Amino acid sequence: MPELWQLSIYEAADQLRRRELSSVELTRAHLDRIAQVEGRVKAFVTTTEQQALREAERIDQRRGEGAQLGPLAGIPFAIKDVICTEGVTTTCSSRMLERFVPPYDATVMVKLRQAGIVMLGKTNMDEFAMGSSTENSAFFPTRNPWDLDRVPGGSSGGSAAAVAAGQAMAALGSDTGGSVRQPGALTNTLGMKPTYGRVSRYGLIAFASSLDQIGPFARSARDAALVLQAVAGYDPLDSTSVDTPVPDYTAALTGDIKGLRVGVPAEYFVEGVEPGVRTAIEEAIETLKSLGAEVGECSLPHTRYGVAAYYIIAPAECSANLARYDGVKYGYSTRNHAESLIDFVMRTRDEGFGKEVKRRIMLGTYALSSGYYDAYYLTAEKTRTLIKRDFEQAFEQFDVLVGPTSPTVAFKIGEKVNDPYAMYLNDVFTIPANLSGIPGVSIPCGFSDGLPVGLQILGPSFREDLLLRVADAYQRATDFHMQWPALPDAKKAARKRG
Ligand code: GLN
Repeated sequence: MPELWQLSIYEAADQLRRRELSSVELTRAHLDRIAQVEGRVKAFVTTTEQQALREAERIDQRRGEGAQLGPLAGIPFAIKDVICTEGVTTTCSSRMLERFVPPYDATVMVKLRQAGIVMLGKTNMDEFAMGSSTENSAFFPTRNPWDLDRVPGGSSGGSAAAVAAGQAMAALGSDTGGSVRQPGALTNTLGMKPTYGRVSRYGLIAFASSLDQIGPFARSARDAALVLQAVAGYDPLDSTSVDTPVPDYTAALTGDIKGLRVGVPAEYFVEGVEPGVRTAIEEAIETLKSLGAEVGECSLPHTRYGVAAYYIIAPAECSANLARYDGVKYGYSTRNHAESLIDFVMRTRDEGFGKEVKRRIMLGTYALSSGYYDAYYLTAEKTRTLIKRDFEQAFEQFDVLVGPTSPTVAFKIGEKVNDPYAMYLNDVFTIPANLSGIPGVSIPCGFSDGLPVGLQILGPSFREDLLLRVADAYQRATDFHMQWPALPDAKKAARKRG
């Protein structure tokens, strides 16, 4: 018998509906799991036990009164701390917002609450979503449940680790350059970045507005379909959300990918991809072939310029977005004596922001400054167009593209944190989807020396249904996504570390 925290949303929803299980029981099982492992994993910045139990009770009560509730009603979720939650601190893992309590819910939260979810808490992240390891949190690093000495990826590392360790059945993250897919890959969970405009960004604290997109973490494509269904759709409060119908994602999971044209970009199998990652991806491609997919090689020739373009565009947009943190209206204010208003703002920003955030603001301000604008920002935007065209051409011949999500498995805590360039290179395969707006999903596809490897599936805009169909067909044929980390107990882990 699996533990309650090991159930899929799909299974739990069925038992809840038949009233064989209550949401209070399911929520308690997750709170117990949090109590058991959180001291080692450190996925949460805030947990909301009392509120969670109240929400669960309310759902049980409504069900008891005969209300017909949807599949997410009573399901325990974790939410990245970049998404505004009314009345619950939303820190972005930054000193700047350490005490910020939003007066409103993000649109995704309004939708999830309408669907009846139970929120267990807010998850740790790289400060303002800048990073690939969750080490840039101003509070503490999150650990990878598969090896507590390693990072869970980032920036949504807390959400990924919570789902991987069985502390939540699903989670939301945000993906600007890979921050849902890469931690998904590194923790053996499914992480999806929807098409730019598919999910409202209203109430998502902005990092780089032309790239940011909220996406789900789940343990299976079937569960992810339910979460995406709940959060997708047009929102008048976000002018970049797109008014196009949301398909039935669960109905898309036919299990059939016969004749599907799968492209394998040559540029995704280059030096720097670890041999263990490459082997797992090659085996996954063989599995897709055995399911009837027609696999062929393709080329995305501008891939190698993606990282450079992204690390101009994202900092440029961040430098504008983060200008609002001046210590006046909300967020941190310096308590030190200030000589003038300018001095006050400078001290506030110096004390409130961490090292990586300051680096990005400086890079972005420089790239946008007069005299450098054309050389950096404009060139980066032109490169973005070329990367977009690469995909448009590839999708003329192929339905989806597959390759590694990350060139490496989870790296050691501390290994890359002082080498920003090495950290940035980790995003080489995830960034192009953000630059071009297309959707991507990472799914578990094997292990290299006991550490998870993620297969990235990319598709044309608004074809999340197709990505989920491929992911689900693959998961019907494999059981990588069903594996749980051993999570050695604290004493053993300490002995191992010596
Ligand atoms: N790792 C990338 C960065 O540091 C992507 C972050 C993200 O997607 N939020 O910017």
